[in-house]
Amino acid sequence: MGLTRPGEPLAGLPDDFVIHRFDVPKPPEPSEEGQDLPAEVLRQLGTHLDAFESMTCYEMRLSVELLMDTGRRPEEICRLELNCLTRDGQGKPVLLYNNWKEQRIGRQLPIHEPTAKLIIAQQKRVRARFPDRTPSKLVLLPTQNLNLRGERSIDSNHLSATHREWVESLPDFVLDDGTVFDKEKIFPYAYRHSFAQRHADAGVAIDVLAELMDHDSYETTRSYYRVKEVRLREAVERVRKMQFDRQGKRIWGTVTTVLDAERTRRAIGAVVVPFGTCSEPTNVAAGGGACPLRFRCVGCDHFSTDVSYLPDLRTYLDDLLRQREKLKSMAEADDWARAEATPSDEEITRIRALIQRVTDDVETLTEAERAEIQKAAATVRQMRQNFLGMPRIRQPLPDLRVERPA
Ligand code: SF4
Repeated sequence: MGLTRPGEPLAGLPDDFVIHRFDVPKPPEPSEEGQDLPAEVLRQLGTHLDAFESMTCYEMRLSVELLMDTGRRPEEICRLELNCLTRDGQGKPVLLYNNWKEQRIGRQLPIHEPTAKLIIAQQKRVRARFPDRTPSKLVLLPTQNLNLRGERSIDSNHLSATHREWVESLPDFVLDDGTVFDKEKIFPYAYRHSFAQRHADAGVAIDVLAELMDHDSYETTRSYYRVKEVRLREAVERVRKMQFDRQGKRIWGTVTTVLDAERTRRAIGAVVVPFGTCSEPTNVAAGGGACPLRFRCVGCDHFSTDVSYLPDLRTYLDDLLRQREKLKSMAEADDWARAEATPSDEEITRIRALIQRVTDDVETLTEAERAEIQKAAATVRQMRQNFLGMPRIRQPLPDLRVERPA
Protein backbone atom coordinates (compact mmCIF):
# COMPACT_ATOMS: atom_id res chain seq x y z
CA MET A 1 0.00 0.00 0.00
CA GLY A 2 3.07 2.24 0.04
CA LEU A 3 2.44 3.30 3.63
CA THR A 4 6.12 2.87 4.62
CA ARG A 5 7.37 5.41 2.07
CA PRO A 6 8.69 8.78 3.27
CA GLY A 7 5.83 11.08 4.26
CA GLU A 8 3.35 8.21 4.65
CA PRO A 9 1.92 7.18 8.08
CA LEU A 10 4.26 4.16 8.47
CA ALA A 11 7.39 5.88 7.14
CA GLY A 12 10.56 4.42 8.68
CA LEU A 13 9.16 0.91 9.15
CA PRO A 14 10.44 -1.92 6.93
CA ASP A 15 8.39 -2.74 3.82
CA ASP A 16 7.46 -6.19 5.13
CA PHE A 17 5.86 -4.74 8.27
CA VAL A 18 2.40 -6.20 8.85
CA ILE A 19 -0.19 -6.08 11.62
CA HIS A 20 -1.90 -9.36 12.32
CA ARG A 21 -5.37 -9.63 13.76
CA PHE A 22 -3.98 -10.72 17.13
CA ASP A 23 -1.64 -7.67 17.29
CA VAL A 24 -4.60 -5.35 17.71
CA PRO A 25 -5.23 -4.74 21.41
CA LYS A 26 -8.49 -6.18 22.64
CA PRO A 27 -11.20 -3.68 23.49
CA PRO A 28 -11.66 -3.44 27.26
CA GLU A 29 -14.42 -5.54 28.84
CA PRO A 30 -17.55 -3.37 29.15
CA SER A 31 -18.02 -1.98 32.63
CA GLU A 32 -19.85 -4.77 34.41
CA GLU A 33 -20.51 -3.00 37.71
CA GLY A 34 -24.06 -3.16 39.01
CA GLN A 35 -25.62 -4.40 35.76
CA ASP A 36 -27.00 -7.60 37.23
CA LEU A 37 -30.71 -8.32 37.39
CA PRO A 38 -32.41 -8.62 40.79
CA ALA A 39 -33.48 -12.15 41.72
CA GLU A 40 -37.17 -11.11 41.54
CA VAL A 41 -36.72 -10.01 37.91
CA LEU A 42 -35.00 -13.27 36.97
CA ARG A 43 -37.80 -15.24 38.60
CA GLN A 44 -40.46 -13.23 36.74
CA LEU A 45 -38.63 -13.70 33.43
CA GLY A 46 -38.52 -17.43 34.12
CA THR A 47 -42.31 -17.55 34.35
CA HIS A 48 -42.69 -15.95 30.89
CA LEU A 49 -40.36 -18.19 28.89
CA ASP A 50 -43.32 -19.95 27.21
CA ALA A 51 -44.39 -16.60 25.78
CA PHE A 52 -40.87 -16.07 24.42
CA GLU A 53 -40.90 -19.49 22.77
CA SER A 54 -44.24 -18.81 21.10
CA MET A 55 -42.85 -15.53 19.71
CA THR A 56 -39.80 -17.24 18.23
CA CYS A 57 -38.74 -20.89 18.51
CA TYR A 58 -37.60 -23.39 21.12
CA GLU A 59 -33.92 -22.77 20.33
CA MET A 60 -34.24 -19.08 21.23
CA ARG A 61 -35.97 -19.97 24.49
CA LEU A 62 -33.28 -22.49 25.34
CA SER A 63 -30.57 -19.95 24.60
CA VAL A 64 -32.07 -17.64 27.25
CA GLU A 65 -32.24 -20.48 29.77
CA LEU A 66 -28.62 -21.35 29.10
CA LEU A 67 -27.60 -17.69 29.39
CA MET A 68 -29.30 -17.53 32.78
CA ASP A 69 -27.77 -20.78 34.03
CA THR A 70 -24.23 -20.50 32.72
CA GLY A 71 -23.40 -16.78 32.56
CA ARG A 72 -21.72 -17.19 29.15
CA ARG A 73 -21.76 -14.41 26.56
CA PRO A 74 -24.69 -14.55 24.08
CA GLU A 75 -22.39 -15.46 21.19
CA GLU A 76 -20.82 -18.28 23.19
CA ILE A 77 -24.24 -19.81 23.81
CA CYS A 78 -25.66 -19.26 20.33
CA ARG A 79 -22.65 -20.96 18.74
CA LEU A 80 -22.45 -24.03 21.01
CA GLU A 81 -21.63 -27.25 19.21
CA LEU A 82 -23.95 -30.23 19.52
CA ASN A 83 -21.32 -32.14 21.50
CA CYS A 84 -20.93 -29.41 24.10
CA LEU A 85 -21.53 -31.56 27.16
CA THR A 86 -19.00 -33.75 28.93
CA ARG A 87 -18.48 -35.13 32.45
CA ASP A 88 -15.60 -34.54 34.86
CA GLY A 89 -13.78 -37.23 36.85
CA GLN A 90 -16.63 -37.34 39.38
CA GLY A 91 -19.31 -37.66 36.71
CA LYS A 92 -20.47 -34.04 37.12
CA PRO A 93 -21.59 -32.20 33.97
CA VAL A 94 -19.26 -29.75 32.25
CA LEU A 95 -20.13 -27.37 29.40
CA LEU A 96 -17.63 -27.13 26.53
CA TYR A 97 -17.71 -23.74 24.83
CA ASN A 98 -15.51 -21.32 22.92
CA ASN A 99 -14.66 -17.89 24.26
CA TRP A 100 -14.91 -16.11 20.91
CA LYS A 101 -14.20 -12.69 22.34
CA GLU A 102 -10.77 -13.70 23.63
CA GLN A 103 -10.24 -16.35 20.95
CA ARG A 104 -9.89 -19.06 23.58
CA ILE A 105 -11.20 -22.32 22.22
CA GLY A 106 -12.32 -25.38 24.17
CA ARG A 107 -13.18 -23.76 27.50
CA GLN A 108 -14.88 -25.77 30.24
CA LEU A 109 -17.50 -24.68 32.74
CA PRO A 110 -18.98 -26.85 35.52
CA ILE A 111 -22.76 -26.77 35.29
CA HIS A 112 -25.64 -28.19 37.31
CA GLU A 113 -27.66 -31.31 36.44
CA PRO A 114 -30.89 -29.48 35.50
CA THR A 115 -28.93 -27.46 32.91
CA ALA A 116 -27.26 -30.62 31.62
CA LYS A 117 -30.70 -32.21 31.23
CA LEU A 118 -31.84 -29.30 29.05
CA ILE A 119 -28.80 -29.81 26.83
CA ILE A 120 -29.25 -33.58 26.57
CA ALA A 121 -32.91 -33.14 25.56
CA GLN A 122 -31.91 -30.60 22.91
CA GLN A 123 -29.17 -32.91 21.58
CA LYS A 124 -31.87 -35.55 20.99
CA ARG A 125 -34.10 -33.04 19.19
CA VAL A 126 -31.29 -31.93 16.91
CA ARG A 127 -30.29 -35.51 16.06
CA ALA A 128 -33.92 -36.31 15.25
CA ARG A 129 -34.13 -33.21 13.03
CA PHE A 130 -30.90 -33.99 11.14
CA PRO A 131 -30.70 -37.81 11.32
CA ASP A 132 -28.29 -38.17 8.37
CA ARG A 133 -25.69 -35.67 9.54
CA THR A 134 -22.56 -36.48 11.55
CA PRO A 135 -23.15 -35.18 15.12
CA SER A 136 -19.73 -33.49 15.24
CA LYS A 137 -20.83 -31.22 12.38
CA LEU A 138 -24.08 -30.15 14.04
CA VAL A 139 -24.75 -27.20 16.32
CA LEU A 140 -26.81 -27.30 19.52
CA LEU A 141 -29.09 -24.41 18.59
CA PRO A 142 -29.72 -24.66 14.84
CA THR A 143 -31.60 -21.81 13.23
CA GLN A 144 -34.95 -22.61 11.61
CA ASN A 145 -34.14 -20.82 8.33
CA LEU A 146 -31.95 -21.96 5.39
CA ASN A 147 -30.34 -24.65 7.46
CA LEU A 148 -30.65 -27.97 5.62
CA ARG A 149 -27.43 -29.34 7.11
CA GLY A 150 -27.90 -28.20 10.73
CA GLU A 151 -24.60 -26.34 10.76
CA ARG A 152 -25.96 -22.80 11.17
CA SER A 153 -26.70 -21.56 14.68
CA ILE A 154 -29.22 -18.98 15.79
CA ASP A 155 -27.75 -15.49 15.59
CA SER A 156 -26.88 -13.51 18.73
CA ASN A 157 -28.00 -10.19 17.17
CA HIS A 158 -31.35 -11.70 16.27
CA LEU A 159 -31.58 -13.09 19.82
CA SER A 160 -30.94 -9.60 21.20
CA ALA A 161 -33.67 -8.03 19.06
CA THR A 162 -36.26 -10.71 19.80
CA HIS A 163 -35.39 -10.66 23.48
CA ARG A 164 -36.06 -6.89 23.56
CA GLU A 165 -39.44 -7.38 21.88
CA TRP A 166 -40.32 -10.08 24.42
CA VAL A 167 -39.29 -8.02 27.45
CA GLU A 168 -41.26 -5.00 26.20
CA SER A 169 -44.36 -7.19 25.79
CA LEU A 170 -44.25 -8.39 29.42
CA PRO A 171 -46.02 -6.80 32.41
CA ASP A 172 -44.02 -4.45 34.67
CA PHE A 173 -41.29 -6.07 36.77
CA VAL A 174 -42.24 -5.18 40.34
CA LEU A 175 -39.52 -5.61 42.94
CA ASP A 176 -40.07 -6.73 46.55
CA ASP A 177 -39.93 -3.10 47.74
CA GLY A 178 -42.74 -2.14 45.35
CA THR A 179 -40.60 -0.27 42.80
CA VAL A 180 -40.76 -1.06 39.09
CA PHE A 181 -37.56 -2.30 37.45
CA ASP A 182 -36.46 -0.51 34.27
CA LYS A 183 -36.96 -2.88 31.31
CA GLU A 184 -34.12 -1.20 29.42
CA LYS A 185 -31.74 -2.93 31.83
CA ILE A 186 -32.94 -6.40 30.78
CA PHE A 187 -30.84 -7.60 27.84
CA PRO A 188 -29.06 -10.91 27.11
CA TYR A 189 -25.66 -9.78 28.42
CA ALA A 190 -27.26 -8.88 31.77
CA TYR A 191 -27.63 -12.61 32.50
CA ARG A 192 -23.84 -12.85 32.52
CA HIS A 193 -23.57 -9.98 35.02
CA SER A 194 -26.27 -11.60 37.14
CA PHE A 195 -24.45 -14.95 37.15
CA ALA A 196 -21.22 -13.28 38.27
CA GLN A 197 -22.89 -11.12 40.90
CA ARG A 198 -24.80 -14.07 42.37
CA HIS A 199 -21.56 -15.95 42.83
CA ALA A 200 -19.69 -12.95 44.27
CA ASP A 201 -22.54 -12.28 46.70
CA ALA A 202 -22.51 -15.93 47.76
CA GLY A 203 -18.86 -15.60 48.77
CA VAL A 204 -17.22 -17.45 45.86
CA ALA A 205 -13.50 -16.56 45.98
CA ILE A 206 -12.22 -14.10 43.38
CA ASP A 207 -9.81 -16.57 41.73
CA VAL A 208 -12.62 -19.12 41.32
CA LEU A 209 -15.01 -16.51 39.95
CA ALA A 210 -12.38 -15.16 37.51
CA GLU A 211 -11.95 -18.72 36.25
CA LEU A 212 -15.71 -19.26 35.99
CA MET A 213 -16.12 -16.04 34.02
CA ASP A 214 -12.98 -16.74 31.95
CA HIS A 215 -11.80 -13.21 32.71
CA ASP A 216 -8.39 -12.09 31.54
CA SER A 217 -7.61 -10.07 34.64
CA TYR A 218 -8.87 -9.91 38.21
CA GLU A 219 -9.72 -6.22 37.71
CA THR A 220 -12.93 -7.08 35.84
CA THR A 221 -13.86 -9.77 38.36
CA ARG A 222 -13.14 -7.40 41.25
CA SER A 223 -15.95 -5.05 40.17
CA TYR A 224 -18.50 -7.63 41.38
CA TYR A 225 -16.95 -7.61 44.84
CA ARG A 226 -17.09 -3.79 44.91
CA VAL A 227 -20.84 -3.99 44.27
CA LYS A 228 -21.11 -6.65 46.94
CA GLU A 229 -19.33 -4.37 49.46
CA VAL A 230 -21.72 -1.48 48.76
CA ARG A 231 -24.73 -3.78 49.14
CA LEU A 232 -23.37 -5.22 52.35
CA ARG A 233 -22.80 -1.77 53.81
CA GLU A 234 -26.35 -0.78 52.92
CA ALA A 235 -27.71 -3.99 54.41
CA VAL A 236 -25.71 -3.56 57.62
CA GLU A 237 -26.99 0.02 57.95
CA ARG A 238 -30.59 -1.12 57.52
CA VAL A 239 -30.26 -3.91 60.02
CA ARG A 240 -28.52 -1.65 62.52
CA LYS A 241 -31.56 0.57 62.63
CA MET A 242 -33.29 -2.39 64.24
CA GLN A 243 -30.92 -3.03 67.15
CA PHE A 244 -32.23 -4.08 70.56
CA ASP A 245 -30.88 -4.29 74.08
CA ARG A 246 -31.31 -7.42 76.21
CA GLN A 247 -34.83 -6.39 77.21
CA GLY A 248 -35.83 -5.94 73.59
CA LYS A 249 -35.86 -2.12 73.65
CA ARG A 250 -34.76 -0.51 70.40
CA ILE A 251 -31.29 0.92 71.01
CA TRP A 252 -31.50 3.68 68.45
CA GLY A 253 -35.21 3.44 67.92
CA THR A 254 -36.38 6.21 65.67
CA VAL A 255 -33.14 8.13 66.12
CA THR A 256 -31.66 7.73 62.68
CA THR A 257 -29.14 10.52 62.97
CA VAL A 258 -26.70 8.75 65.22
CA LEU A 259 -23.21 10.05 64.64
CA ASP A 260 -21.05 7.83 62.48
CA ALA A 261 -18.32 8.09 65.11
CA GLU A 262 -20.62 6.54 67.70
CA ARG A 263 -21.51 3.70 65.38
CA THR A 264 -17.87 3.05 64.62
CA ARG A 265 -16.98 3.12 68.30
CA ARG A 266 -19.69 0.58 69.01
CA ALA A 267 -18.61 -1.58 66.11
CA ILE A 268 -14.99 -1.61 67.23
CA GLY A 269 -15.82 -2.08 70.91
CA ALA A 270 -17.97 -5.15 70.33
CA VAL A 271 -17.55 -8.78 69.51
CA VAL A 272 -20.01 -11.19 67.92
CA VAL A 273 -21.58 -13.71 70.29
CA PRO A 274 -23.91 -16.53 69.17
CA PHE A 275 -27.05 -14.39 68.81
CA GLY A 276 -25.93 -10.77 69.03
CA THR A 277 -22.97 -8.63 70.06
CA CYS A 278 -21.11 -8.21 73.32
CA SER A 279 -19.40 -4.99 74.46
CA GLU A 280 -17.87 -6.27 77.69
CA PRO A 281 -14.25 -4.99 77.47
CA THR A 282 -12.38 -8.09 78.68
CA ASN A 283 -14.47 -10.36 76.48
CA VAL A 284 -13.97 -8.02 73.50
CA ALA A 285 -10.20 -7.94 74.16
CA ALA A 286 -10.20 -11.77 74.21
CA GLY A 287 -12.08 -11.90 70.89
CA GLY A 288 -15.23 -13.26 72.55
CA GLY A 289 -13.61 -16.14 74.40
CA ALA A 290 -13.60 -14.73 77.96
CA CYS A 291 -17.17 -14.18 79.03
CA PRO A 292 -17.33 -13.85 82.84
CA LEU A 293 -21.03 -14.85 82.81
CA ARG A 294 -20.71 -18.02 80.79
CA PHE A 295 -22.69 -16.47 77.93
CA ARG A 296 -25.90 -15.72 79.83
CA CYS A 297 -26.25 -12.79 77.44
CA VAL A 298 -29.93 -12.00 78.01
CA GLY A 299 -29.04 -11.30 81.63
CA CYS A 300 -26.20 -8.96 80.80
CA ASP A 301 -26.18 -5.24 80.03
CA HIS A 302 -23.26 -5.66 77.62
CA PHE A 303 -25.45 -7.57 75.21
CA SER A 304 -27.35 -6.25 72.21
CA THR A 305 -28.88 -7.93 69.22
CA ASP A 306 -30.52 -6.99 65.94
CA VAL A 307 -33.18 -8.29 63.65
CA SER A 308 -30.71 -10.40 61.65
CA TYR A 309 -30.16 -12.61 64.73
CA LEU A 310 -33.83 -13.53 65.07
CA PRO A 311 -33.37 -17.06 63.61
CA ASP A 312 -30.38 -17.61 65.95
CA LEU A 313 -32.42 -16.50 68.96
CA ARG A 314 -35.17 -18.96 68.01
CA THR A 315 -32.64 -21.77 67.56
CA TYR A 316 -31.08 -20.93 70.93
CA LEU A 317 -34.47 -21.07 72.62
CA ASP A 318 -35.19 -24.46 71.04
CA ASP A 319 -31.78 -25.71 72.21
CA LEU A 320 -32.46 -24.58 75.79
CA LEU A 321 -35.84 -26.32 75.81
CA ARG A 322 -34.38 -29.53 74.40
CA GLN A 323 -31.50 -29.42 76.84
CA ARG A 324 -33.91 -28.97 79.78
CA GLU A 325 -35.97 -32.00 78.71
CA LYS A 326 -32.91 -34.14 78.20
CA LEU A 327 -31.46 -33.29 81.61
CA LYS A 328 -34.73 -34.13 83.36
CA SER A 329 -34.35 -37.76 82.34
CA MET A 330 -30.60 -38.03 82.91
CA ALA A 331 -30.42 -40.36 85.88
CA GLU A 332 -26.67 -40.85 85.86
CA ALA A 333 -25.91 -37.24 86.95
CA ASP A 334 -25.83 -35.89 90.52
CA ASP A 335 -28.67 -33.55 91.41
CA TRP A 336 -26.40 -30.56 91.87
CA ALA A 337 -24.70 -31.14 88.47
CA ARG A 338 -28.03 -31.52 86.76
CA ALA A 339 -29.44 -28.44 88.50
CA GLU A 340 -26.46 -26.32 87.45
CA ALA A 341 -26.52 -27.55 83.87
CA THR A 342 -30.27 -27.06 83.46
CA PRO A 343 -31.21 -23.79 81.70
CA SER A 344 -33.05 -21.59 84.15
CA ASP A 345 -36.73 -20.72 83.71
CA GLU A 346 -35.69 -17.09 83.98
CA GLU A 347 -33.35 -17.34 81.00
CA ILE A 348 -35.97 -19.15 78.91
CA THR A 349 -38.62 -16.56 79.78
CA ARG A 350 -36.29 -13.70 78.90
CA ILE A 351 -35.26 -15.19 75.58
CA ARG A 352 -38.93 -15.74 74.73
CA ALA A 353 -39.74 -12.14 75.63
CA LEU A 354 -36.82 -10.82 73.58
CA ILE A 355 -37.92 -12.81 70.52
CA GLN A 356 -41.46 -11.48 70.98
CA ARG A 357 -40.29 -7.85 71.24
CA VAL A 358 -38.14 -8.06 68.11
CA THR A 359 -40.93 -9.83 66.19
CA ASP A 360 -43.51 -7.25 67.32
CA ASP A 361 -41.23 -4.44 66.22
CA VAL A 362 -40.83 -5.95 62.77
CA GLU A 363 -44.62 -6.28 62.58
CA THR A 364 -45.03 -2.52 63.01
CA LEU A 365 -43.22 -1.91 59.69
CA THR A 366 -45.04 -1.48 56.42
CA GLU A 367 -45.00 -4.43 54.05
CA ALA A 368 -42.36 -2.79 51.85
CA GLU A 369 -40.17 -1.92 54.87
CA ARG A 370 -40.53 -5.47 56.16
CA ALA A 371 -39.46 -6.90 52.80
CA GLU A 372 -36.48 -4.56 52.79
CA ILE A 373 -35.38 -5.42 56.32
CA GLN A 374 -35.79 -9.15 55.68
CA LYS A 375 -33.67 -8.89 52.57
CA ALA A 376 -31.03 -6.88 54.44
CA ALA A 377 -31.07 -9.36 57.34
CA ALA A 378 -30.56 -12.27 54.92
CA THR A 379 -27.60 -10.45 53.33
CA VAL A 380 -26.01 -9.74 56.69
CA ARG A 381 -26.52 -13.34 57.79
CA GLN A 382 -24.88 -14.57 54.63
CA MET A 383 -21.94 -12.22 55.23
CA ARG A 384 -21.59 -13.47 58.78
CA GLN A 385 -21.51 -17.05 57.56
CA ASN A 386 -18.90 -16.18 54.97
CA PHE A 387 -16.74 -14.39 57.54
CA LEU A 388 -16.97 -17.23 59.99
CA GLY A 389 -16.54 -20.00 57.50
CA MET A 390 -14.28 -18.46 54.85
CA PRO A 391 -12.71 -21.50 53.22
CA ARG A 392 -8.97 -21.45 52.61
CA ILE A 393 -9.02 -24.22 50.06
CA ARG A 394 -10.98 -24.33 46.86
CA GLN A 395 -14.64 -24.24 47.78
CA PRO A 396 -17.40 -26.32 46.19
CA LEU A 397 -19.53 -24.16 43.93
CA PRO A 398 -22.91 -23.29 45.40
CA ASP A 399 -26.01 -24.22 43.41
CA LEU A 400 -27.15 -20.74 42.37
CA ARG A 401 -29.30 -21.66 39.42
CA VAL A 402 -32.37 -19.41 39.32
CA GLU A 403 -35.44 -21.63 39.69
CA ARG A 404 -37.92 -21.63 36.83
CA PRO A 405 -41.31 -23.26 36.57
CA ALA A 406 -41.03 -26.84 35.25
S1 SF4 B 1 -22.93 -12.55 78.95
FE1 SF4 B 1 -22.37 -10.43 78.74
S2 SF4 B 1 -20.16 -10.48 78.83
FE2 SF4 B 1 -20.81 -12.55 78.41
S3 SF4 B 1 -20.76 -12.69 76.19
FE3 SF4 B 1 -22.83 -12.16 76.76
S4 SF4 B 1 -22.85 -9.96 76.63
FE4 SF4 B 1 -20.74 -10.55 76.71
